[in-house]
Amino acid sequence: MPSDREITELARLIERARQAVVFTGAGISTESGIPDFRSPGGIWTKMAPIDFSDFLASEEARRETWRRRFAAEDMWRSAQPNRGHRAVAELVNRGTAGAVITQNIDGLHQASGVPAEQVIELHGNSTYAHCLDCARRYEIVEVRAAFEKHEAPPVCDSCGGWVKTATISFGQAMPVEPMRRAEVETLAADLFIVAGSSLVVYPAAGFPELAKRNGAILVIVNREPTGLDPIADLVLNRSIGETLGAAVGVD
Ligand SMILES: [Zn+2]
Repeated sequence: MPSDREITELARLIERARQAVVFTGAGISTESGIPDFRSPGGIWTKMAPIDFSDFLASEEARRETWRRRFAAEDMWRSAQPNRGHRAVAELVNRGTAGAVITQNIDGLHQASGVPAEQVIELHGNSTYAHCLDCARRYEIVEVRAAFEKHEAPPVCDSCGGWVKTATISFGQAMPVEPMRRAEVETLAADLFIVAGSSLVVYPAAGFPELAKRNGAILVIVNREPTGLDPIADLVLNRSIGETLGAAVGVD
């Protein structure tokens, strides 16, 4: 186990925390082989994201959205939680962290053992779909079977609304309830740990700022520097799995 000063300091802050919150972004999941869509060379620099208004307006945009989702299926299916996810799950299961606020849509926190009700998903979840009008849930496997027969974008059996993965697209409003819960957890925290977010996407990146203004200790673990490094109490520009794993004592 690395025993350098940064990790010792992080371990000390975690030990002293009364209530922590962990805030995660793409960087924790790239260590599981999931590409960071927004990074230089990421998928969205090669293929423009489909805006929510286009999804609503165009049958072809809906069809393309679903084609991309199914093309990504193998990547999602083979991705497993890594040491960083396991360290976060340990913090939750010990009771040190009350919640995980995540920008990720891959479901890996739940897969690593964080109870679903303690994962606050700011950008939704890609592992299932729902009707945009009545919110009825659909499983991806059944949507895919129907899509592959006719290449027709799925429509809700109950109300005729559009069925979409339960993710937040560009141009789509942030989900009200997760945003509210994230704020409550942030204000209750005396230690706020950012893991793998470059903190460029607002309003999500406003949470660490809010925590800091509210008197919490702010720790940022991210491979690259972030815009909030100047206000953080501890910044570790290194691998998340190695850093959190060592600080929490999880392999
Ligand atoms: Zn419906």
